[in-house]
Amino acid sequence: MQERETGASAARHVRRLWSIDPTAVQRSNLHFMNRYMQLAIESALEGVRKNHGGPFGACITQNARVIAVAHNTVLRDRDCTCHAEINAIRAASKKLRCFDLSACELYSTAEPCPMCLAAVFWSRIRKIHIGVGRQVAARYGFDDARLHAEFRLPQHRRVMAIQTGVMREACQNLFAEWKSLHRDLY
Ligand SMILES: [Zn+2]
Repeated sequence: MQERETGASAARHVRRLWSIDPTAVQRSNLHFMNRYMQLAIESALEGVRKNHGGPFGACITQNARVIAVAHNTVLRDRDCTCHAEINAIRAASKKLRCFDLSACELYSTAEPCPMCLAAVFWSRIRKIHIGVGRQVAARYGFDDARLHAEFRLPQHRRVMAIQTGVMREACQNLFAEWKSLHRDLY
């Protein structure tokens, strides 16, 4: 009896699944995606009008809930790291009281620069939604492509000078000290 009831409820569940219109699900997803991107766009516009920085906005969500919305504030804060994505990651981490944002998704009005991509990587954000690619930003003078190209060059051909091995042993000892204290890996 119990088994027959379970079977009947499974059949009802399957019928319910079949009754869902897949295009309606896609439309609904698109509706939410556009809503989150719209928040990022509005934040970017606010930043441009207040002269906080460039025309870049970002929104971070978790399970369809908006966690943080931010824009570029490099000019306002006189801080070159205050890109929209970094500001949004900082705000989301503060709100969730956690540096691990692996349950979150990021909406960015423009393709993230290498710095922001790295920040997204460290935050473990699982998906990025992008408005426009780096080519559009480049047309307006935001030449992220140069930085992307720099990272593709071998170290000796880069503009940025890098000297390795400075106080190598003392720096290496930091790892031994950390290991001896059994801290969390991050
Ligand atoms: Zn950036």
